[in-house]
Order: sequence, then C-alpha cells, then structure tokens
Amino acid sequence: MADATIIIKEAEKKLAKQFEEIDDIAFYNQKKVLDAFNEFRVSSQCFHGSTGYGYDDVGRDTLAKIYAKVFGGEKAIVSPILTCGTHAITTVLYGILRSGDTMLTVTGLPYDTIHDTLFGKGNSSLEDYGVIYKQIDLKENSEFDLEKIFAEVEALKPKMVYLQRSRGYSNRKALSPYKMKELFEGVKKLSPETYIVVDNCYGEFVDRIEPTNVGADVIVGSLIKNPGGGLAPTGGYIVGTEKAIDLIATRYTNPSLKLELGSFEMGYRMFYQGFFMSPHTVAQALKGCFLVGQIMQDKGYKIIPENNEKPQDIIKSVVFNTPEELIKFVQTVQTISPVDSFALPLPWDMPGYNDQVIMAAGTFVGGASLELSCDSPIRAPYIAYFQGGLTYEHVKMFAEKLIELY
Ligand SMILES: *Cc1c(COP(=O)(O)O)cnc(C)c1O
Repeated sequence: MADATIIIKEAEKKLAKQFEEIDDIAFYNQKKVLDAFNEFRVSSQCFHGSTGYGYDDVGRDTLAKIYAKVFGGEKAIVSPILTCGTHAITTVLYGILRSGDTMLTVTGLPYDTIHDTLFGKGNSSLEDYGVIYKQIDLKENSEFDLEKIFAEVEALKPKMVYLQRSRGYSNRKALSPYKMKELFEGVKKLSPETYIVVDNCYGEFVDRIEPTNVGADVIVGSLIKNPGGGLAPTGGYIVGTEKAIDLIATRYTNPSLKLELGSFEMGYRMFYQGFFMSPHTVAQALKGCFLVGQIMQDKGYKIIPENNEKPQDIIKSVVFNTPEELIKFVQTVQTISPVDSFALPLPWDMPGYNDQVIMAAGTFVGGASLELSCDSPIRAPYIAYFQGGLTYEHVKMFAEKLIELY
C-alpha cells in the first residue's frame, strides 16, 4: 500500500503542469457559467417543475437561455424529454435534413448508436427517408483532410457537414474547437447555406471554447455526460443559431408546438446545480484520466491521447494486448464503484451496438459516464475507454488498484 502511495505521488509530480492547466480552464469556465446564472437572474423559482403541457415553464426556458449563452449559441433546447445523447443527435439530424439532401461527415463513421439513424431500409433511418450520406475520414494523424473536404463541399453543397468531437470507439484523437475554425470558415465560404453540426459529447468544458464559438451552427450532447455535472438525472441539449434551433424545434415537438411545450414535474434544480458544478467536475475527471493514463503508461501500455497532449474529451483509452486484460480493467472499475460494486460486468449484446460491449457503470445516475465508468466493444485492438470520476480522489483509488493488479 505504501508503494502505491509513493507511485501515485510521483505520477502526480510528473503531471503538475497538466493539472495546473486543467485548473485554469475550470476557473475560466466557472466564471462563464456564473455570469450566465446572474445575467438570467436564476432564482429558486426556476427549480420548480411544471405539469401537463408545461406552458410558460420558467425553469425550462431559463435553463435553455443559460446553455445558449455559455456555449456561444443564440438559442437552445435543454430537456429531460431528450432521452439521451443519441436521441438529441437524431433530433438534430431529422430536424435539418430532407429527402435528397446530403449529409457529409468529415470525421469518419459517426458513433455506433447513430448508425441505425443513418442507414437501413424500412427502419425510419435517414437513408429510408432519402437522405444521401457521404463520409470523409480523418487523416492518419487525426487531422481534418481539408483538401478533400473543401473539394466535396464545393462540388456537393451539402445540407449538413457533420463532425464528432470525441473519439467514440475508435483509436483516433478527440478534436479541438480551435482546430475547427479553419475548417468551418472554409466550409461557409464555399457553401454559406450548409449547416455545420458537431456531436459535442464528452467535450463540454474540456477547453475554454466550444465548437459554436468558432462557427458551428449546432452542438449537441448528453446531460448524463459533462454538462449535467453528475447531477442531472437524464436529458440532452442542443445549442446553436436561432435559424438552426427553430428548424430543429419543429421536429423536437412538432411544427406548431416547437419550444412552447414540455413539462417536468420533478423540477430543474439538479439541471442547474449540475451545470454549475460541471466545469469543476469535468476537471476532476480530466485529472483522473491523466493519473490513470500515467500509471498504465508507466506499466508499458499505450494510452490515447498521450499524457503530453492536451485532451479534448474526458476519455482516456488504454490499449491492451488481450481481451482478458481489457475485461479485468473494466471489472476493476466496477469493484471500486459506490453503487453495485458487487456486480460483475460481462461482455454483452447492447441495443445500438454491433459488437459485444462490456460496460462498468456503478453510478448514481444510471449509465452516467461523467461518473467513473468504462466501456469497450470486444474487438481488436482491445481498447478500454475509461472516463469520468465525480471526484479526483475516487479515481485515485482506482489508480491504486491498478498498481496492484498490473
Ligand atoms: C455517448 C455518445 C453519444 C451518444 O450518447 P448516449 O447518451 O449514450 O445516447 C454520441 N456520440 C458520442 C461521441 C458519445 O460519446
């Protein structure tokens, strides 16, 4: 035990610079959030729920204004009625794309759970509705293939250019909003009517800006990841330009109801408090990623991204040689969880995923991955996608376990 304590202290010393930068970013983002709370005069009245149609639901409407402001958009949909990130993304896609339109993804194949939204016949997918899908992969070094993208945008004038900031279940790196600027400006110059949409899952508050700050029309994500701060019980958000959000709102509810309706009797305190906590909690998770990454790297495992690189999501991937090593890692996350620590996760067929997936999520909010959690499809290369941790101390306990086990 003494050994593990010393190893962790040494790892923390090596990470001092990274931790300082994480603290600076959290402080910067905390100010942004507090400013918005003050500007929109958040009071305890905003926490009360509504029922039925939810006309004039102050809590719902004020929360949306805060998200729009903090994330650099004009308008937002923030709702427990969006069941998850996948649902929020799907709402954006169906809201914007029409039969004959082209959706051009420029970061490779989107996240696994979106595939059935994109492809298939007779399943109400976009393909089923006649939307044309085109894909450009990232380059080997996880950079945008700008030449190819600009050529395609000029030729196709696509209705949508789609990006995924986080890595999903791939071994590429997550993308920095700062690096998106040149891409977005180029796209808008060649095709001003094109909507730029970013799946921002896991990216919120990791850096000082969001993709909307550099010209994305829409960003979208899950409230049981970063922006829920570990407290939001469910939901999704969509932030963007007024034009884009108005269009998406017609699909979110219907063309006449738009954003006028939607109630949540439980009230909104957890959504507000979670958003307030989020910059700090994201920082805790990021520090945990660095620490676990350092421990595993020092043991000879490859980690993505490397610890000398600035992260753009709250995930650290650890690459294992065998499925057994991977499964042990995921199961260890579960044994150190505050909830269901006695359960043993096993690889399983999950809705929305094509490979078997193993998931550890001993979380307060079911499946919430801003909490210490880990998930991996069982396919080579055997990569554990580890993320979250509401407190750095909790992740440190996981790191101690890893020192004993590997
Ligand atoms: C988690 C995630 C999603 C889907 O979110 P769910 O809430 O699990 O439906 C989509 N894209 C990325 C990159 C994600 O990480």
